[in-house]
Amino acid sequence: MLTCEALINDAVASIGGDSPKLDAELLLSHVSGLSRTSFRAWPEREVTAAQAEQFSVLVAERVNGKPIAYLLGQQEFWSLPLKVSASTLIPRPDTECLVETALFLELPESARVLDLGTGTGAIALALASEKPNWQIMASDRIAEAVNLARENSQNLNLPVTVVQSNWFEDIPAGTFDLLISNPPYIPVSDRHLSEGDVRFEPESALVAGDDGLDDIRLLIIQGLDWLNAGGWMMLEHGYDQGEAVRSLFAEAGWLTIETRKDYGGNDRMTLARKPTSD
Ligand code: GLN
Repeated sequence: MLTCEALINDAVASIGGDSPKLDAELLLSHVSGLSRTSFRAWPEREVTAAQAEQFSVLVAERVNGKPIAYLLGQQEFWSLPLKVSASTLIPRPDTECLVETALFLELPESARVLDLGTGTGAIALALASEKPNWQIMASDRIAEAVNLARENSQNLNLPVTVVQSNWFEDIPAGTFDLLISNPPYIPVSDRHLSEGDVRFEPESALVAGDDGLDDIRLLIIQGLDWLNAGGWMMLEHGYDQGEAVRSLFAEAGWLTIETRKDYGGNDRMTLARKPTSD
């Protein structure tokens, strides 16, 4: 009864959702140390009673909706295995579009970059993995997130300076060439907050006032003072916030304002450039 096949089949029946088989295999692999492919090659292999018990605890949590990334303590982003915790957002594939876009910007060889509200460190670390010459700083208001991002930076051996700061408040004086952020952008009354993974993620990483734009507004207004002339800002936002974000950039005097889509074809980020002279 403790064969991998039986455990997985039982779990699949109770987990439901989009990917019950994948979820069950990931959880069993996590508790047993066996690979997912080994479950297919050797389905009658048995795990210990303790492992089976641990597995059933995780499956029960998954049935309650707890995100698979929190159960595994890990999520991959830009092919980097990142440690995750309930103190911050689970990195999403959509955010990889920001990384990809940043890599093609016109920037100095050793660009100074700041990832605001870094959470796990995902954006900053992905950029560090691609651009060893960039000087990359990452910030977060939440101490646990700062520690997590530092841990990920050490584990991956990617140099990112992580500082604790509420947006720009404690960012050391200096000028950046690129400010990049996946800030909270969900309106407080959004129905989607009571569905799926976001139910388990901290509100501090998700919700930003009545229209979801409180933090984006602040970043657009204050960002100009932390950038070199001609520097860029790139912000992730909701699929229906492109027009509002472009207007905010325009009102604040930014140039070259452009919204880009995510891999699902939805508006997902807007970038803009600080004027080169007054
Ligand atoms: N993209 C996330 C979601 O809609 C929200 C991320 C965020 O608020 N920064 O689930």
